[in-house]
Amino acid sequence: MAKETHEFQAETKQLLNLMIHSIYTNQEIFLRELVSNASDAIDKLHFESLQNQDILEGNSDFEIFLVPDKDSHTLTISDNGIGMTKAEVAENIGTIAKSGTKAFLEQLQKAKEEGTAVNDKDMIGQFGVGFYSAFMVADKVTIVTRKAGTQEAVRWESTGDGTYTLEDCEKESRGTTITMHLGEEFYGDKAENDFTDAWTLESLIKKYSDYVRYPIKMNIEKEEMPRDDEGKIIEGKDPVKKIELKTLNSMQPLWTKNKSEIKEEQYNEFLKNQFHEWEAPMEVFHNKAEGSVEYTYLLYIPAKAPFNLYHTDYEPGLQLYSRHVFIMDKCKDLLPDYLRFVKGLVDSPDLSLNISRELLQQSRELKTIGKSLEKTILKSLERKLRNDREAYEKFWAEYGKSIKIGIYNSIYTGGDIINKLKELVLFTSSKENKNVSLKEYVERMPESQKKIYYATGADRAAIEALPQMELLKEKGLEVLYLTDSVDEFAIEAIRTYADKEFQSISRGDLDLEDAESQEVKKEAEEIAKENGDLMTDIKEALDNKVAEVKISTRLKNSAVCLVADANGPSLSMEQTFAAMDNPMFKAKRIMELNPKHALFNRLQELHTKGKDTPEFKDYCELLYSQALLIEGIMPENPADFANKLAALMAK
Ligand code: ADP
Repeated sequence: MAKETHEFQAETKQLLNLMIHSIYTNQEIFLRELVSNASDAIDKLHFESLQNQDILEGNSDFEIFLVPDKDSHTLTISDNGIGMTKAEVAENIGTIAKSGTKAFLEQLQKAKEEGTAVNDKDMIGQFGVGFYSAFMVADKVTIVTRKAGTQEAVRWESTGDGTYTLEDCEKESRGTTITMHLGEEFYGDKAENDFTDAWTLESLIKKYSDYVRYPIKMNIEKEEMPRDDEGKIIEGKDPVKKIELKTLNSMQPLWTKNKSEIKEEQYNEFLKNQFHEWEAPMEVFHNKAEGSVEYTYLLYIPAKAPFNLYHTDYEPGLQLYSRHVFIMDKCKDLLPDYLRFVKGLVDSPDLSLNISRELLQQSRELKTIGKSLEKTILKSLERKLRNDREAYEKFWAEYGKSIKIGIYNSIYTGGDIINKLKELVLFTSSKENKNVSLKEYVERMPESQKKIYYATGADRAAIEALPQMELLKEKGLEVLYLTDSVDEFAIEAIRTYADKEFQSISRGDLDLEDAESQEVKKEAEEIAKENGDLMTDIKEALDNKVAEVKISTRLKNSAVCLVADANGPSLSMEQTFAAMDNPMFKAKRIMELNPKHALFNRLQELHTKGKDTPEFKDYCELLYSQALLIEGIMPENPADFANKLAALMAK
């Protein structure tokens, strides 16, 4: 095939531009990125060879090779991993397939516009832009690659200017060779970082890639004095140059070392290398367990939740090793899904290397390990909440949603895990703009209070503006603020805490037991009796869109509110279901009227003129639409609502 020239995808061009110009200051990390790609490529080959030995063609001496060349100002990194077909090169290198890359670009762009500093170390790689970092140091990059098991090789080349070329070529062995034609400032004695210098490269590998589990080799030129047969230096002769093949990385897996021998930075560096997490983690768990199953684990809670943690494209899971040999990436069957934010690995001699993924996932050992890891993590979170509130709040801000999802899911998974999880939950409340645990809430509630009150809404301000809040605020009762759509589902799953039931301020009766409330209740019952027809006729005028019209005991200043009955889903749950395209779950709507509001008198007045008059009907419609709007729900016919309102205003 003749040489073809292709355009980079638009986003790729943009990314390349950012790589080449400005943004990054820490150029040396390109080496870590390329080494990590090489190591991934070998992993892939190794994994495939477990099912298909032939693919190795007899060569399983995996290695990564660095070749610096001072004369041609190039640095070459090669691996004997899986390699790529031509289509794969075009797909992987020419385009940015990952959805995260767009987000990365947007974040960069935003940072640029706002003039905020970009923490390149934190961002690069996290979004899968590793390879392009080569253009930070190279004016031209050449890739020659041959996919394992095939004979055709391909050469890719680009100067990063918007196009790249592809052509068929020869390559003796499988794998990928990447040659960087270094830019002027990156070679030679004057360069701050000379990437053709063996010592520089060796120290970079030590710094960033020491634990890479395949040898990273380089030929190092040495000068030695000539010696005689007895090993004595021969005086007066010039030193001779010798080439020594050296493995630059120690390869000893970090987790096999003793905890006491590992420094914090080493844990952090490992996290970067293995899991592309650039910030120091919130928590590291490293231990060896010996029981019915023997295993070592090294787990991390990263400092930040990934932006796509709850999207379907996020792949949770831990790495699995058996006797330090990598078996599987992203094994989802160890930890329950709600702990999807935990990264790390498990190494167990009791896991078999050669069984299929399916069988492995069902293995008893895996389940045992998973259960005990879950316990370890939860125990540590409990401890954090008790002993280091500040740190726990940070955890909660990043991963609180996961814990609440865990609670909700426990309805299906069963067990008593919910009892542990509910102790970990925090909400803000009407008391102060601070988080409170359920335990703290119950401990500080007055003895006369029988229920745990909560309100749902988009945010604090929206909840505080709810008419349903009026009475509770006046009575000084603490109300938990549920601002995430999963919150109410979690509360429903918990059911009771310390024998106290949860009570939504927008569902059922508030059941306040103080004397004043009892009085209000009695009064309301009387008003309801006197206005029985009015209530029935409003409901009828609304075409039975509400299940009931009631005299409210919870409103103070507002005219109307909408609540759901105590047993079915709430209005906000209904909205969540609807957003998930699941309109089956409908709240049973109850419209409550404030008998003390002037509007109530007006309704009575209109009603006496006849329940079928258009005016009475319009009032009922407007009232209902208002109640919906307060709950953040669009009236069924917004234009009709606006017209009726305009007509009324014009009167
Ligand atoms: P990431 O490594 O985060 O996926 P990169 O931009 O670094 O993103 O690489 C893009 C893709 O190119 C990789 O996912 C991989 O499929 C392929 N690739 C990169 N380097 C190699 C290599 N040395 N061998 C085989 N495939 C590679």
